[in-house]
Amino acid sequence: MEKYALLEIIYLIGSVTFIIGLKMMGNARSARNGNLIAAAGMILAILGTLFLHENDVKIVVYALILSAIALGTIVGWMTAKRVQMTKMPELVSMFNGMGGACAALIGLMEYEHNAGSVGAMIAIVAGTVIGSISFSGSIIAFLKLNGTMNKPIRLPSYNIINTIVMISVFAFAGWIAYASSAEGGSLWASSVNGAELSQGSMLFIYLLFAVAIVYGILFTIPIGGADMPVVISLLNSFTGLAAAFGGFLYDNKIMLTGGILVGSAGTLLTLVMCKAMNRPLTNVIFGAFGGSTTSSTTEVKGAIKDASATDIAILMNYSKKVVIVPGYGLAVAQAQHVIHELEQLLEERGVEVKYAIHPVAGRMPGHMNVLLAESNVAYEKLVEMDDINPEFDQTDVVLVVGANDVVNPAAKTDPSSPIYGMPILEVDHAKHIIVNKRSMSAGYAGIDNLLFYDPKCSMFFGDAKKALTELVNELKNLD
Ligand code: NDP
Repeated sequence: MEKYALLEIIYLIGSVTFIIGLKMMGNARSARNGNLIAAAGMILAILGTLFLHENDVKIVVYALILSAIALGTIVGWMTAKRVQMTKMPELVSMFNGMGGACAALIGLMEYEHNAGSVGAMIAIVAGTVIGSISFSGSIIAFLKLNGTMNKPIRLPSYNIINTIVMISVFAFAGWIAYASSAEGGSLWASSVNGAELSQGSMLFIYLLFAVAIVYGILFTIPIGGADMPVVISLLNSFTGLAAAFGGFLYDNKIMLTGGILVGSAGTLLTLVMCKAMNRPLTNVIFGAFGGSTTSSTTEVKGAIKDASATDIAILMNYSKKVVIVPGYGLAVAQAQHVIHELEQLLEERGVEVKYAIHPVAGRMPGHMNVLLAESNVAYEKLVEMDDINPEFDQTDVVLVVGANDVVNPAAKTDPSSPIYGMPILEVDHAKHIIVNKRSMSAGYAGIDNLLFYDPKCSMFFGDAKKALTELVNELKNLD
């Protein structure tokens, strides 16, 4: 078989593995294997490209490529192995930024060799602009998430400035694409009719790269650190789009498929996250939520009740049904193993236990699912919000662990609250509510929670891991 035909077949197999892998990632049980299948397809495509794409490749070129792959693999492997689950959005933003940079570099490199072709020029300038925005935006997102840039910087009328810069970047990109194509070739000093561009015209693509980088920074910098997971998902879809333009440029099917899958999955994820928070995407990008300026008119009245581990152990021991609501604090405390132990102890005593999963609990999509899967909680025990809400009426005890916004009734009752309209877990329908957190501090949205003052609610203060370990020990003593 001719080697290019073989390469096309390899690309087809690779594309199919991406689609199968993505499908398998939709379920916690098959997600790991899905990831491995897609990775195997990617390795196959890389090897195919290396050995079948070009003839007579110099040994030094192979040495350079393989060294770069080895370096990237080692750094990527070690970083991913060491990262804590709560730092995952940071890692994703850094990796995404690298993807964007690659797409932009392809544009810079290929620009001078593709003069005269409108299609190639559109792909090149689009890849350069979108990749550069994704690169600089992801780096800012990374710095915000790791606390280096923890205050949003908002210039006066930043939305107007950003819109003007964005329109200018796209207009400039359009003009470069036109001027570098055969039709607009007369705009350049040198001939572009199939010939290489002059050095002078190369300056324009570098300038485009620079202004797109600046726009990426301006776009991300005013957005509150807490909104970064949504922004990262959006930038991720940009990177996918930029890679797809690369696939179009090289007529490379697997790059095109991979880019389109990343682009569409990223876009869908962004929309799903916004829907779960009940906020339009424009509000995430142009609003000030998650920064220091959130306000609400909710007045906190009443007293809070405190409960001890012994009281809670007795209450749970005599319950028929307990629902656990995990939140961001569970991940911070790394209390997933001890919560599983609590669940097993209660089940041994004939208590039915379920976990109520809010779509935006934690700090990344599927955060609670991944965390609880780590401690081998049975997947059937994790019940999505819409399915568990009708069950709270028949629940004896709800144990809220490190969750706050996802159970805040202000989302339903206070139109001035920044989370108004966000669907919540209706834990106030249960007979007893126990809330474990370290203090009365607010969660991500920075607002008070009236649930804590509900007469049915008792606070169980302390770090989740420590407090739950105490509770488990008390339960063990009850025989
Ligand atoms: P929240 O951020 O609302 O609340 C977490 C609570 O955990 C805090 O009030 C904190 O209180 C407590 N906590 C922190 N550390 C510990 C610890 N060691 N032990 C016990 N408790 C602890 O979390 P939720 O999960 O309820 O809500 C998620 C929020 O994040 C939502 O507003 C959502 O919109 C937002 N978000 C989610 C994204 C996602 O994809 N999942 C993406 C972007 C935003 P204290 O300090 O008193 O202990």
